[in-house]
Amino acid sequence: MLLKGASVATLDPPSVARGDLRIEGERVAGGAPVLFPLPGEEVVDLGGALVLPGLVNAHTHLYSALARGMPGPAEPPRSFLEILERVWWRLDRALDEESVHLSGLVGAIEAARSGTTLVFDHHSSPSSIGGSLATLRRAVEEVGLRSVLCYETTDRNGLEGRDAGIAENRDFLAGGPTRLTRGMVGAHASFTLSEESLAALAAAVAGASSSLHVHAAEDRADVEDCVRRCGAGVVERLRRHGLLVRRTLLAHGVHLSGPELLEAQSEGAWLVHCPRSNMNNAVGHAPTAAFRRAALGTDGLDEDMLAEARAAFLKMRDAGRPDALEAASGQLAGGHRLAAAFLGQAFGTFGPGSPADLVVLDYQPPTPVTAENLAGHLLFGLDRSHVRSTMVAGRFVLRDRRIATVDEGTVFARARAAAGRLWERMFSL
Ligand SMILES: [Zn+2]
Repeated sequence: MLLKGASVATLDPPSVARGDLRIEGERVAGGAPVLFPLPGEEVVDLGGALVLPGLVNAHTHLYSALARGMPGPAEPPRSFLEILERVWWRLDRALDEESVHLSGLVGAIEAARSGTTLVFDHHSSPSSIGGSLATLRRAVEEVGLRSVLCYETTDRNGLEGRDAGIAENRDFLAGGPTRLTRGMVGAHASFTLSEESLAALAAAVAGASSSLHVHAAEDRADVEDCVRRCGAGVVERLRRHGLLVRRTLLAHGVHLSGPELLEAQSEGAWLVHCPRSNMNNAVGHAPTAAFRRAALGTDGLDEDMLAEARAAFLKMRDAGRPDALEAASGQLAGGHRLAAAFLGQAFGTFGPGSPADLVVLDYQPPTPVTAENLAGHLLFGLDRSHVRSTMVAGRFVLRDRRIATVDEGTVFARARAAAGRLWERMFSL
């Protein structure tokens, strides 16, 4: 396939060039100011549209896709823990196989409509654990996105629930990666895991040569609990269990100290900054100035990375950071580096052999777009309404604003019906 007449941009390093891109199979074959079609090649005229590498959501919960607009608890939560207990832990307990599948479909469609091509999902469905990751994979692959999936192991549903969570991670990893999907080991957070549970998770990580995806110091309560349990912070607790390894994903890190961040990142862990979720839960400002190996995550609010990047920028500006523009676009680009580290391909680039994951944006800029001001256009101009097409591994998932892989209308109608039943179960369990 030949994509003609694009403004092809990359975030890291920032670059913008007018030209054509050739896609062969799942990869970029090459780009140049002008490429001529080969015999039999499909030509897609992009008419000057902006092309960016597909965006990466480094921490999400697709299972919350059916939570939009749901009624709040009778007694409004007043703390982070009450938000979990009264909202999210009720929702995940009410999920069954059908609602997991539909959440995956809806979340993946919304991701494609936002230009997001890869999601790192953190899944939880305590009433339907076994096989839930395969159900989620089926949904995300039906839409055609890439994903890295794990099950959120926790002690809060008893030992049986904990062991089923670990087994689900282990079984999914044992099945091996597919073309678009792979597994890692998931854990909820330090404050819902005993020493024994962390040891079992460490065995699962070591056994599969994998790494852990965990919420770390999202709220101060996690840190206080950790100090009570073992006299140390969350990073030290993970390190003692051998869980602080290369490609460990630490979501949030709001209450990690400078030395903890330094240690975690020097061991090869990644921080995932989720500014909109942090504001929504009022857990504080993440110390992003010390985030070096970091990417952005939506934490399940939606799958819109341009919105997350803009929030990251504004939150850092609000905290007085003069370098917020570079920092926010750097965190967005961090998703590409994270994807490259996990999947071993040159995500975020358009050189020969790069994965053909890209987003086409109908962006009529009121000022010239250059490598120097690309971050300004990203953070002040672009949003998901500009997304015209999204390609994953050489295939259009969204094409000219239509989902090309599944019947979106049918999926959303089924989701609305299932959401009503899900909310009823939520408040009856
Ligand atoms: Zn989360």
